[in-house]
Amino acid sequence: RTLTQLDARVSVCRACPRLVAWREEVAATGRRAYADQPYWGRPIAGWGDAHAPLLVVGLAPAAHGGNRTGRVFTGDRSGDWIFAALHRAGLAAQERSDHAGDGQRLDGVRIAAAVRCAPPDNLPSGQERAACAPWLDAEVQLVRPRVLFALGGIAWDASLACARRLGWNVPRPAPRFGHGAHAVLTLPQEDDDDGERGRRRGGAVHLVGSYHVSQQNTSTGRLTAAMLDEALGLAAQLAGV
Ligand code: SF4
Repeated sequence: RTLTQLDARVSVCRACPRLVAWREEVAATGRRAYADQPYWGRPIAGWGDAHAPLLVVGLAPAAHGGNRTGRVFTGDRSGDWIFAALHRAGLAAQERSDHAGDGQRLDGVRIAAAVRCAPPDNLPSGQERAACAPWLDAEVQLVRPRVLFALGGIAWDASLACARRLGWNVPRPAPRFGHGAHAVLTLPQEDDDDGERGRRRGGAVHLVGSYHVSQQNTSTGRLTAAMLDEALGLAAQLAGV
């Protein structure tokens, strides 16, 4: 399977009735500020470099962000923070991203969400998180990143669960999420050879955590730009980008 095939399959997924209803209702109703724009209203595929050493794992698309523009973190306040940080790190061409045709480009980075459809109150249920997990597994297997950069505790847990399902060795007790938290997930021998690209040197994938770039965190000062830069800097350094 290729990433293009994966994206096509993800984009028509209807496995979660509550989220299908919500994403479509939001798309049909819209918001006055975006009255002139059609909404995507479907699942959001990963986006960025197909062989990115650094995979940013977000929570889920925003109802009027990714669910509107069709591209992860594009057109919402959370995206303003992550794209600005990626730009400061030299990993994104532009410091913000408002729509899918804006010329934004990621270099060495890919962004995917743990849950691919916008959930009410930005909170997917456990059942919805589990239903969406195979899409993240498939994306990680195809991209083969060196580093997973998890935005928030749900993305952290989704990354650890993904690692376990893929047969990677996860330390016990399970590494706890925190801002700047770092865990080393070792790969089984047969998964360690990445051919001539020579990625995943040392037979490990690194998991780095950051508080989520949600307004709840950024507007209260729980997450500052300096804190985000520091955690992203660690992830980028480990990824070699
Ligand atoms: Fe499918 Fe994931 Fe959307 Fe559920 S959240 S409908 S599993 S894409």
